[in-house]
Amino acid sequence: MYDVAIIGGGPAGASAAIFTAKAGKKTIVIDSDQSVTRRAWLDNHYGAPAISGPDLVETGKKQAEKFGAEFVRAKAGKLTAGDGFLTVETDAGTYEATHVIIATGMFVDFAEASGIRTKPGTEPRIKTIIDATPEGKTSLDNVWAAGTVAGVSMHTIVTAGDGAKVAINVISELNGERYVDHDVLKNG
Ligand SMILES: Cc1cc2nc3c(=O)[nH]c(=O)nc-3n(C[C@H](O)[C@H](O)[C@H](O)COP(=O)(O)OP(=O)(O)OC[C@H]3O[C@@H](n4cnc5c(N)ncnc54)[C@H](O)[C@@H]3O)c2cc1C
Repeated sequence: MYDVAIIGGGPAGASAAIFTAKAGKKTIVIDSDQSVTRRAWLDNHYGAPAISGPDLVETGKKQAEKFGAEFVRAKAGKLTAGDGFLTVETDAGTYEATHVIIATGMFVDFAEASGIRTKPGTEPRIKTIIDATPEGKTSLDNVWAAGTVAGVSMHTIVTAGDGAKVAINVISELNGERYVDHDVLKNG
């Protein structure tokens, strides 16, 4: 049983995994490797001057793995709610988790197959998104949405930021108090 299962390993999903894994939450990222970010050249990602989309995605994955997040290459079909946990069915087996974060980019088929409420998108070229609250909560308990699929602006710094925001909300729910992840620069 995982604390958090994340569907999608692009900027939103991997950024969320960095926070949940670093907070000591047992984290799995299920990704089908269809990230549109792999076609991007990024000159506007704060703090990472002139980086290719593939390099950004690989760097994010390594950061999350450093803190113990597991990545599995698979396509998630749908999730079902059990008694206090969620079951994610994929083409490489099923995974159980207390919380699920959906970060599937432009794809809403997983959300729709899971009976999660969606609505028309508002960003350019985005047809449908998950109907999520500003905190990232969806119409299903313990199921959250982050990044493009949650309706934020389709830019890596924004989707990565949204993934972090939602992860902090999930960690705070699991811990029962607001979570902060600050490391201090050691002198000398
Ligand atoms: C050509 C191009 C150029 C761009 N240039 C820029 C730019 O210069 N600057 C900028 O800031 N942004 C740019 N972007 C936008 C940016 O790349 C992303 O769109 C944005 O960051 C999306 O992040 P995300 O994590 O929400 O989605 P994605 O990066 O699309 O990640 C979603 C992940 O979910 C996975 N997934 C989906 N469904 C499933 C499923 N059922 N099971 C398992 N995995 C699933 C996909 O395989 C994918 O890896 C560009 C995009 C494109 C296409």
